[in-house]
Amino acid sequence: MHRRLIAPGALVAALLLPAIPAFAAAPSPGAPGIGDPYYPYYGNGGYDVSHYDLRLRYQPATDELEGTATILARTTQDLSSFDLDFLLDVDEVRVNGVSASFASSGQHELVVTPRTPLAKDAPITVVVRYHGVPSTKSAYGFTTWHRTPDGAVAADEPESAWWWYPSNDHPLDKATYDVSVAVPDGTQAISNGTLQSTSSQAGWTRYAWRENKPQATYLTTLAVGRFDITTGTSEGGVPIVNAYSKDLGDNDGSARASVERTGELVDWLSGYFGPYPFSTAGGYVPNTTTGYALETQTRVYYSPKQFANGANTSVVVHELAHQWYGDSVSLKGWKDIWINEGFARYAQWLWSEHEGEGTTQQLADYVYDSHPADDAFWTVAPGDPGPDDQFDLAVYDRGALAIQALRNEIGDDAFFAVLKGWPHEHAYGNASVADFEAYAERVSGKSLSALFDTWLFQTSKPAAPAARTASISAASGPAARPKSWRRIAATNDLHASDLHAN
Ligand code: ZN
Repeated sequence: MHRRLIAPGALVAALLLPAIPAFAAAPSPGAPGIGDPYYPYYGNGGYDVSHYDLRLRYQPATDELEGTATILARTTQDLSSFDLDFLLDVDEVRVNGVSASFASSGQHELVVTPRTPLAKDAPITVVVRYHGVPSTKSAYGFTTWHRTPDGAVAADEPESAWWWYPSNDHPLDKATYDVSVAVPDGTQAISNGTLQSTSSQAGWTRYAWRENKPQATYLTTLAVGRFDITTGTSEGGVPIVNAYSKDLGDNDGSARASVERTGELVDWLSGYFGPYPFSTAGGYVPNTTTGYALETQTRVYYSPKQFANGANTSVVVHELAHQWYGDSVSLKGWKDIWINEGFARYAQWLWSEHEGEGTTQQLADYVYDSHPADDAFWTVAPGDPGPDDQFDLAVYDRGALAIQALRNEIGDDAFFAVLKGWPHEHAYGNASVADFEAYAERVSGKSLSALFDTWLFQTSKPAAPAARTASISAASGPAARPKSWRRIAATNDLHASDLHAN
């Protein structure tokens, strides 16, 4: 009798307990960071996300956001708990359908403890129900959530997701997205990818957006406000969706005269970088007071100030170039930012040449000549600038100068093969500066370590002989300022003045 009662219980217990071989480590907490030395707590360890489904509701009048995030992931270790990066108030978490305990920790960690440990290499489904007023939340003393008179915008780098959805917030963990947002009738919700549907009920309109290609968390965006949405298709066949705040005032015409050229510029850039990597392209201009633009995937964010001095196709070229260099091919660590900004800047130089406003060589010569050897500009190494200088002017201008030096070293044929081959080689993935160097060496058949060291890693101005070898500033006398210079430089003045300033 006794034995008959015990035996089935022991059997059930044995079946419920995860089978842990003697040599396996016991389940342990996932790391609170993914391992990026620039930002030790960004992203998390122990799992890899494949898809985010966000079903949200936002009320502009009160800045209240509420919703449910369903996250599909795969464990990469035996987990007793794991973190998400998030700042809003959590009501409930479920892991594989079972309610889990949760607690916030550190600056932006949400620690989730499932009822039973999770085995390595298993698919998991995490549901987070939440609400909150994003503008009241901060981490490290800042917020990147921008309220506008008619809504709000999430668009920032390297962090913006914490204010609107829980995530593994690092570009190493890319995923696809369905983002569905209900907003009061008469208001629009803009996000990445294609607009799948809109529906209206009881005073609320729901916008359902889908990004079907892997996307880094910092490249997701949400904008709520009163927008005028335009659609079209580029000559090359890329569907275009743009949106303009109805309150752009005097900047309305110049914004449209720039962003409406998205299709033309996507096609032009395809000539250099290969086929456009995503299902749709476009941009949006909300009525924010910030100054910068950001390469949010398929739907670029533009501050109205980018158009305060008239139409600005240069900034559109910069952000669209990122769709290949940064968005499809994302950096592995934030130290690899040159992979993004050096090439987006170089695209502006190519556009300048196309427009007859200065060649890439003239722009490179001007960068070299206009910064004397004692200028702090040369102390920033674009190949690993450090977190404080991640978006320093040198990452852009010295970064593009390095690309011209590479071009002069390997010749136009190999250079343009690299420029077009790279986005294909690493499409929808991640890559580092070292990966780029190896790729350029492979395509050109040349050893390039000295060149990369001189132009990307030394913290002093490359000396005249090195410059002459790279055909930089070989002419006698200082280079003249190319016509495009001021417009190109202006995109950065605006960046520098308002990084995290709001
Ligand atoms: Zn950029």
